[in-house]
Amino acid sequence: MPEAVSICVIGSGYVGLVAAVCFAEMGHRVVCVDKDEAKINILREGGVPIFEHHLPDLLAKHRGRGVEFTTELAAAVERSEVIFIAVGTPQGDTGAADLSYVEAVVSEIARDLSGYKVIVEKSTVPVYTNEWIRRVLSRHRVDAGHFDVASNPEFLREGTAVSDFLHPDRIVVGAGTDRAAELLKRIYAPLTSGSYYTRADALKGSCTLEKPARLLLTSAQSAEIIKHASNAFLAMKISFINAVANLAGAVDADIEDIATGIGMDSRIGSRFLKAGLGYGGSCFPKDVAAFTYVAQQQGLDFQLLEEVQRINDAQRDVFFKKVESALWTLRGKKLAALGLAFKCDTDDIRESPAMDVIQRLLEAGARVTAYDPASIERAREKMPPSEILTYAADPYEAARDADALLILTEWKEFGELDLPRLGRTLKFPIVIDGRNMYRPELMAEHGFTYVSMGRPDSQSTEVGSAKKKIL
Ligand code: NAD
Repeated sequence: MPEAVSICVIGSGYVGLVAAVCFAEMGHRVVCVDKDEAKINILREGGVPIFEHHLPDLLAKHRGRGVEFTTELAAAVERSEVIFIAVGTPQGDTGAADLSYVEAVVSEIARDLSGYKVIVEKSTVPVYTNEWIRRVLSRHRVDAGHFDVASNPEFLREGTAVSDFLHPDRIVVGAGTDRAAELLKRIYAPLTSGSYYTRADALKGSCTLEKPARLLLTSAQSAEIIKHASNAFLAMKISFINAVANLAGAVDADIEDIATGIGMDSRIGSRFLKAGLGYGGSCFPKDVAAFTYVAQQQGLDFQLLEEVQRINDAQRDVFFKKVESALWTLRGKKLAALGLAFKCDTDDIRESPAMDVIQRLLEAGARVTAYDPASIERAREKMPPSEILTYAADPYEAARDADALLILTEWKEFGELDLPRLGRTLKFPIVIDGRNMYRPELMAEHGFTYVSMGRPDSQSTEVGSAKKKIL
């Protein structure tokens, strides 16, 4: 068993909670702090505040043993050697990351810091945040010998967060001193040595004893940039394929075949080449904006990233125009919307393209019945049910007597609908698919008018030619 480290994780959101539970799974002693009392109470009482695979099992295994939950930051910091900051860093008005939550936490830590601690940025932050943290601590008169600041950005994806954490593509540690680097290496030793993967109760995944997790040690500045640049690159891939999809759609080519053909080149790779409604969520939009801002602050013009954002925003217009083209007028139309979360396998609706599209449909006078396997509760808080917006218990209830069905999030079950049943349930057999979940020929065979992204529209073979464009 590797040497256990006492760890404090501040923030119990998608990153903080997963990190805290996974550190406990790796054998460390963890205390997870949040200022949100309701969340901490849920966690203490055995609840799971977010939808994430494996999280309920790991919480049941470690709650009250390897990991505790509290709102008392000072006491948690006092008993920990390493403090991970995992609070939100949302987008501010200028596009820059709003670091006020990070600063508030650092000020609180500074008040009671005694003995040597490593303060680690787990949140996604702009370059030089490590320097600002150091400065805030000095301003609070904390002795420079009592702390180090390190960067350890998180690359987990919502939906596969636990598995990503325990089987990472890489662990990045940015540390300016050997002492901080050694402590962080010790924390990740169960993954980098592979010892975790030999345990009978280990979560299975891509890493093994023979192929353990890799750790890259670098400076804090480089680690901060690695995170921003990684997200910007992935967002760029999505915008690139969406731009190509719009061209493909205009010339009756098929973006799915094109993406397969491009992705077969090992230099490019097939992932993140999925045309659709564009990216959303709490990371890509704000991180691309923040990285653009960082470059501007250095006097550099990173126009590529501005274009990535522009293409992404425009993609929702592209979809909306497809809806209008398929249905002519929207006022009074009843539409079924499948999907509320920003992507599948999560209940997160932050910056969700699906929510945005639904909002626009309502503004255009349509009535919407929406369904999502995980995020209806969260969506209800943001968009309460009304005369024009209702929530359904399953896709077929949403589809009942609707003028058309819209697919807005790529949940697996939305690609496995009972098509004959769907056809009987809808008022008109029209499906407008923002996530390319079906083959156009299959939809035509089942009598649907099918509109998707970057592919020829298809009409029911009964109505006319299967590949006739109706735009
Ligand atoms: P989140 O909003 O889900 O969670 C943040 C938590 O911090 C909240 O529970 C909030 O109550 C708590 N908090 C805020 N101020 C606090 C304070 N002063 N003391 C204690 N708790 C406080 O956010 P998230 O999605 O977990 O993201 C956190 C960071 O990680 C962000 O910088 C984000 O960009 C980054 N990140 C997120 C993901 C992701 O997929 N969500 C992936 C990688 C990195």
